[in-house]
Amino acid sequence: MKNMSIDNTNIPSQSIVVLGSTGSIGVNTLDVVSRHHQFSVFALTANNNHELLFEQCQQFNPVYAVMVDESAAKALKEKLLASSCSTQVLSGKSALAEVAGASEVDTVMAAIVGAAGLQPTMSAVKSGKKVLLANKESLVMAGRLFMDAVAAFGAQLLPIDSEHNAIFQCLPAGENYSNSVSKILLTGSGGPLRNLSLEDIRQATPEQACRHPNWSMGRKISVDSASLMNKGLEFIEAKWLFDVPPNRIEVVIHPQSIIHSMVEYIDGSILAQLGHPDMRTPIAHGLAYPARIASGVSSLDIVAAARLDFEAPKRDHFPALDLAIHAAGSGIGAATVLNAANEVAVDAFLNEKISFGQMTDTLQGVMDCAQWQEPVDLESVIEIDTYSRHLSGDIIAKIVAN
Ligand code: NAD
Ligand code: MG
Repeated sequence: MKNMSIDNTNIPSQSIVVLGSTGSIGVNTLDVVSRHHQFSVFALTANNNHELLFEQCQQFNPVYAVMVDESAAKALKEKLLASSCSTQVLSGKSALAEVAGASEVDTVMAAIVGAAGLQPTMSAVKSGKKVLLANKESLVMAGRLFMDAVAAFGAQLLPIDSEHNAIFQCLPAGENYSNSVSKILLTGSGGPLRNLSLEDIRQATPEQACRHPNWSMGRKISVDSASLMNKGLEFIEAKWLFDVPPNRIEVVIHPQSIIHSMVEYIDGSILAQLGHPDMRTPIAHGLAYPARIASGVSSLDIVAAARLDFEAPKRDHFPALDLAIHAAGSGIGAATVLNAANEVAVDAFLNEKISFGQMTDTLQGVMDCAQWQEPVDLESVIEIDTYSRHLSGDIIAKIVAN
């Protein structure tokens, strides 16, 4: 290799929307964006954090800033009027889908947390954008319908979740690999509760659950990582993204989070992608694909990293994982029900209404008694999501009352 210096001149310019720009993925995305002149920001969106969105508007001068919360939108508008920034403020849920589908936009970073990301992400898909998918819940909920829309509307879907980005990097580009790949090895750190007893796991506090050993993330995904539901959601995500059956996906615990996932081929080769646990690497990969750009992530000192350990997940300690793996084999509706139940249960846990153990009891209770018909369109996905949220609320009320 003659010249190892980074050459960005071949990256086409891109107009970008960051859905969820004030979150952990959003902030990391803007960090990468700020390093390259080829990116311009068309819109930034957030739920209600108008202080951070105001700062981001000053730095990136987007055409639009969307605040879902009306009073936060008003506060942002007032601050922007008093500044030199010409950004226009839009508000409400429908504005998210509007900016994500706008004709001026090339690339949409889908980084809203939870089911709230489904409609804006689908708007980007249905407008044929390059969609950088961090919001795994939208794919988990809509599954086949999501992937069919990607194909029908000619969108380009690039995985940002670090494991799926790693798998994508280890798969052969543009080739049918259904006969050459024997297994996907989906790695996970095991989360902050990995070494606790079942009793201590059940009593874990929100603070303990959010203290991830390797990654700094939003609170919902941090709790999901602690319960291994995140790995379960990622299992379902991998099934749809790479069109592999559940029996060819294996979850492996790798506490150092240096390997971000692996692909095994039928000749016995296993390819892995390694790097620091820093989301700017998959974000930069998605933004520049198929080129490579600097992300701000430092070089990995492989000698200092020294050890790569692997172990099987403790399935009896973390029952959410098997609930998700089971849902992965049972059609779209099961995953929609489980995802919604999980959002309700995580919220109740973070608000100290139920314990960590009761959070997984809620999921089990919902999966035991929920009844649904397989969704045929986005509207029926949303109906099942709403149904599951009500059922989860009822089950939590019973758990709390006992
Ligand atoms: P976060 O909580 O830090 O940020 C969430 C963002 O979504 C914020 O900008 C918030 O304003 C916005 N938002 C929240 N509720 C909303 C609503 N109802 N309507 C519109 N916007 C809303 O979350 P995060 O950790 O950045 O995660 C975002 C997504 O990326 C999640 O789906 C998560 O699973 C996925 N992800 C995150 C990481 C990570 O390292 N943080 C890694 C892989 C995947
Ligand atoms: Mg992940």
